[in-house]
Amino acid sequence: MKAVFINEFGGVDKLIYGDLPDPTAGPGEVVLRVRASALNHLDLGVRSGRGRLPAQFPHILGCDMAGEIFEIGPGVTGFQVGDRVLVDNRLKCDACDQCLQGLDQFCRNQLRIGVDVDGGHAEFCKIPAVNVHKFRDSMSFEEAAAIPLAFHTAWHCLMVRGQLQPWETILVQAGGSGVGSAGIQIAKRIGARVITTAGSDEKLARAKELGADEGINYRNTPDFSQKVRELTDGQGVDMVLDVVGAAVWEQNQLSLRPGGRLVITGSTSGTQTNMDLSVLTGRPLTLMGSGSRTRRSFGEMMSVINRGELTGVVGLVFPLEDVAGAHEVMESRDFYGKLVIQGPQ
Ligand SMILES: [Zn+2]
Repeated sequence: MKAVFINEFGGVDKLIYGDLPDPTAGPGEVVLRVRASALNHLDLGVRSGRGRLPAQFPHILGCDMAGEIFEIGPGVTGFQVGDRVLVDNRLKCDACDQCLQGLDQFCRNQLRIGVDVDGGHAEFCKIPAVNVHKFRDSMSFEEAAAIPLAFHTAWHCLMVRGQLQPWETILVQAGGSGVGSAGIQIAKRIGARVITTAGSDEKLARAKELGADEGINYRNTPDFSQKVRELTDGQGVDMVLDVVGAAVWEQNQLSLRPGGRLVITGSTSGTQTNMDLSVLTGRPLTLMGSGSRTRRSFGEMMSVINRGELTGVVGLVFPLEDVAGAHEVMESRDFYGKLVIQGPQ
């Protein structure tokens, strides 16, 4: 099969478009004919060797994907060849103490498709059946591939960690990003008021099309917390969803009302920052991280996706042989929504 893989870490020149053996479905697994996959910042880290490393080379990249079931392994029920599915890329063991307590987000043997095992930038991908989810007919493969990581991340942050309420106001950082554009939709769907930031007026206009009530261009308003206060009668927001990290750490805290909560799930601008600990006592804020996620929250999210109440945001589409081009665009940050890779037609 055709696939995009690496044999060593490095720049985009290390991405190889070539031939690898077709996978076959083992017990409890299905093989997907991948119709579309999507890019995440995570892929840049895997390619360059930052973070946890894949078990072996060659390693196929791609954490997000959607396609048709091509082969069904022994013991798999509930699926037929040809079913249209998207993929939850977190593999859980179902046997450790955390899994048995229903805390599978903390599974001690967790692996990630596209990071630890082969991913979806390929014609075919082998996946445990428990990780594939059928999606509605009205959704294209490209849109479906844009869903899993971005929407599950945002869903878990807003609904599980932050427990956003309909009467609250949320500041969604980077409203043009995959997680940001998903966060805007999820927050609006439950009735919250949404203020968002982006680096261009064009991105803010797209964010408002998705439902954002107010937009702040952080390039011409670097002290955006002042604007947030103006928009909230001087009070500040109830919650901040952040994927940016160090560059906005202080402004995030200044944007929150007393007792407000910050959920951070990314740090694309950097991870190191000074912190005034008095915000934990004087105001007092709740600062929380969100990283690993549960199967339960993925299932909850899919119920809403399949009612047509949330929409995958496809930015640019690339052919499988040009994953390198997609990596370059992602590094430039000059795009809106998700960068999607089409499988062979
Ligand atoms: Zn486990």
